[in-house]
Amino acid sequence: TFATTARRAAETIAQMEAPNQYGIGVSKAQGIVKGLTGAIGNTPLIRLNHISDATGCEVLGKAEFMNPGGSIKDRAALYVVKDAEEKGLLKPGGTVVEGTAGNTGIGLAHVCRSKGYKLVIYMPNTQSQGKIDLLRLLGAEVYPVPAVAFDNPENYNHQAKRHADRLDNAVWTNQFDNIANRRAHIETTGPEIWHQTKGKVDAFTCATGTGGTLAGTTRYLKTVSDGKVKCYLADPPGSVLHSYIESGGKHVERSGSSITEGIGQGRVTDNLQPDIDLLDGSINISDEKSIEMVYRCLDEEGLYLGASSCLNVAAAKEVAEKLGRGHTVVTVLCDGAYRYADRLFSKKWLTEKSLIGAIPKHLEKYIVL
Ligand code: PMP
Repeated sequence: TFATTARRAAETIAQMEAPNQYGIGVSKAQGIVKGLTGAIGNTPLIRLNHISDATGCEVLGKAEFMNPGGSIKDRAALYVVKDAEEKGLLKPGGTVVEGTAGNTGIGLAHVCRSKGYKLVIYMPNTQSQGKIDLLRLLGAEVYPVPAVAFDNPENYNHQAKRHADRLDNAVWTNQFDNIANRRAHIETTGPEIWHQTKGKVDAFTCATGTGGTLAGTTRYLKTVSDGKVKCYLADPPGSVLHSYIESGGKHVERSGSSITEGIGQGRVTDNLQPDIDLLDGSINISDEKSIEMVYRCLDEEGLYLGASSCLNVAAAKEVAEKLGRGHTVVTVLCDGAYRYADRLFSKKWLTEKSLIGAIPKHLEKYIVL
């Protein structure tokens, strides 16, 4: 309930002020953290200098690419595993099973290794060999399965669930509808942003895959600020959430598709459900704008970011322009460009996707692949 969340939020802040705590509230530079899981979170909040100066606002990006697994999903990975342990579903030597092709799998692989659990990953067989290799070398057992829709029982998510059901001491972590994912952001991402800005934050915006980041951070910031922090979804083409939110839940429209990986959603997940009505609106960002921002963040800020991060930055810029000078707008830098470089900086790929024209002339020098 709202009251419980508010109480938890207050407790988190109290904890942050406490000295010598491991984990939340202690910056990575301040002390020793306990194992890999202690190094998750407490990421810097980076002032994006060019965009801030241009808009007259403080536009700040939470540096989630600095997590051990390289993305925002380390936080959710840690929380779904901790939740399974607390509920007694996962005991020493147990197995975690998840359906994912992306960052959640990498986050889970790190967390499971560090805690001694086995990890089984199901993913659509349309995914690159590189992703499969990476998960395998991080110790996961990987099953690429036919890429069929969610309503087909052979979909990778359902296969993951059945695999866990067949084993003893195994859990399907179910990132989309397991609200421990959202809790990671109520208890860590939100409080960190509030603490780092000393409560001077006017707006927050980010995209959704599972919705955990947006829902949890929004819930925390709305609670702690008495509803004053404005929160917006940042949505790519092909997602239904933009139309859903802008029409007050009356209307759902899916049009187009996007090159941004890991985001865009066809339904209101259980992670989003409790908080979607708290949102102040949604901002639709085209692939042209996202890709231009990938190049601008690199050139102007020195930040090497993936497309979802840059969609977020583009949305934060629009929010800053809407609110006007003097405001502080926070967004999320979800991951780096490392896993996407062969696409984002490839002339052939940009041409195939009809995005080559979106790169400003003076930034074409970065198209090197
Ligand atoms: N960006 C990237 C690169 C991701 O992998 C994800 C997760 N799929 C997100 C953003 C969205 O995060 P969330 O699942 O918390 O909505």
